[in-house]
Amino acid sequence: MKLAGKTALVTGGSRGIGRGIVWQLAREGAKVAFVYRSDTESANQLVKDLELDQREVIAIQADVSDPESAETVVGNVLETWERIDILVNNAGIIRDNLLAMMDLDQWQAVIDTNLGSVFHFCNAVVRPMMSQRHGRIINISSVASHFGNPGQSNYAASKGGIEGMTRCLAAELGKRGITVNAVAPGFIETDMTEDIRNMAEGEIVKKISCRRLGNAEDIAHATAYLASDEASYVTGHVLVVDGGLTLGGL
Ligand code: NAP
Repeated sequence: MKLAGKTALVTGGSRGIGRGIVWQLAREGAKVAFVYRSDTESANQLVKDLELDQREVIAIQADVSDPESAETVVGNVLETWERIDILVNNAGIIRDNLLAMMDLDQWQAVIDTNLGSVFHFCNAVVRPMMSQRHGRIINISSVASHFGNPGQSNYAASKGGIEGMTRCLAAELGKRGITVNAVAPGFIETDMTEDIRNMAEGEIVKKISCRRLGNAEDIAHATAYLASDEASYVTGHVLVVDGGLTLGGL
């Protein structure tokens, strides 16, 4: 119960990696609020499952790319629990296309959802965290920003932006008791990767040293560590959790 007494806000918590993070933080004793966009059925099911497990959890429907929504969500959580100790910026989308074919909507949707949301939620949460003199911000990046994947210029730009922002925020906030880190997952089995898994799972697994795809729990454990008091001297770091995908060996 590393997070007993803590409160957390996770964006994109209804499915995939975010769902795993919500579970792990709650299992470690935190009260958890999570944001989702449209999948109310999955969000309600998660709340039901966690309540059966005697955990305190709130689901909030909002679009993370909207600055006003971020203010409202953070305001609601503060009204309910009076503090936010942990912010996990996890919500993200892909709209892959080669740049020559990419339209402005595909570019903008990815930048606004993946990177804009990190600004909006950090902006809304940082002042309360500074008053508490305690906070943990964890931004979910991707190893896709360390490779050059054709078709992912929008996605890689959003995730590269997150990593740069993580370092700047860490430098700004360390003296206030707030750490800011990123987790960069490799290839994780979620809805986001379903199409590519269907096309090339065998080839992908061959490139991973651990010879398996990652799962949401792999990312959730790394996130829970960065959220804990044990990680109080880790800040500005990008923790790659990819089973060795980016080692590039034979
Ligand atoms: P996923 O299964 O597609 O789930 C995405 C989550 O984000 C859902 O909860 C979704 O809500 C929410 N979301 C998306 N847009 C939103 C918006 N505008 N407002 C509010 N919530 C929104 O994705 P995932 O694979 O778990 O990915 C989670 C994060 O990990 C993303 O940042 C992704 O870039 C990153 N990542 C994933 C992988 C991978 O291999 N899967 C690898 C590296 C990094 P709804 O359920 O309501 O749609």
